[in-house]
Amino acid sequence: MTDYVIEPPPTPSVAVDGADARFPVRRIFCVGRNYEAHAREMGKDPTRDPPFFFMKPADAAVDAPAVIAYPPETSNFHYEIELVVAIGKGGSTIAAEHARDHVWGYGVGIDLTRRDLQLAARDAGRPWCWGKAFDRSAPIAPLRPAARVGHPAKGRIWLAVNGQVKQDQDIADLIWNVPEIIAIISRSMALAPGDLIMTGTPAGVGPIVAGDEVTGGIDGLGEIAITIA
Ligand code: MN
Repeated sequence: MTDYVIEPPPTPSVAVDGADARFPVRRIFCVGRNYEAHAREMGKDPTRDPPFFFMKPADAAVDAPAVIAYPPETSNFHYEIELVVAIGKGGSTIAAEHARDHVWGYGVGIDLTRRDLQLAARDAGRPWCWGKAFDRSAPIAPLRPAARVGHPAKGRIWLAVNGQVKQDQDIADLIWNVPEIIAIISRSMALAPGDLIMTGTPAGVGPIVAGDEVTGGIDGLGEIAITIA
C-alpha cells in the first residue's frame, strides 16, 4: 500500500443513467470549432482543417442537474451544448472504423466558457486554460452506455436559456465525427479508459447570468439542466 504525504484527492466521476456505479473521469478533451455555423460566428473560416483541442481538468466535470456559481474574473460567461463521448477502452493510433469499440457511452454536457478570457488569450496567442478550464466548467448529465443507446450519428442537439431556444442543430452536422475525432486524438496521444471527449458546440453561443435556467439535450441521450447562481 502506497503512503502519501497528503491525503490523495478523490477520483473525479460522473453519474451513469439508471445505475449506482459512476464513470471515473481521467481527462477531458474538448474539440474547438466542430460545427460550421459556430466557426463562422466566432469569426473563423469553417474549413475542414485538422481539428484542434483544448482540455479541462477531470474535476471540472460535475453532475447535472447542478447549480453553478457565476465564475470569477469574467463578465461574458457563455454556454456551449455538446455531445460527450466516454472512452471505456484505451488505445493508440485507433483506426476510425474501429473507434466505436473504444466508446463506453455518450452523454450531454455544457462546455462553460469565460468568453472574454478565452478570446483575449486567443487573440494574444496564449493558452485558453483560464477561459475554459476553470472550476465546475463541465456540467454533464448522466451518461448512457452504448450497449443501450448504440452509437448515435444523428439527432437534434439543442440548448435553451429560460425556455428560449438558443442552439438547435443536429449532431450529423459535426465537421469531424466521433470516430474521426477518436482516430485523430489517438494518433497524438494514447486514449485511456475514463477519458471524456466534448465534441464541440453548434452555433448560437451566448451569455448567461445569475438566475438563468439553462436546459438542453440530444435526441436519444437525454437532457441536461443547470441553474446559474
Ligand atoms: Mn466547446
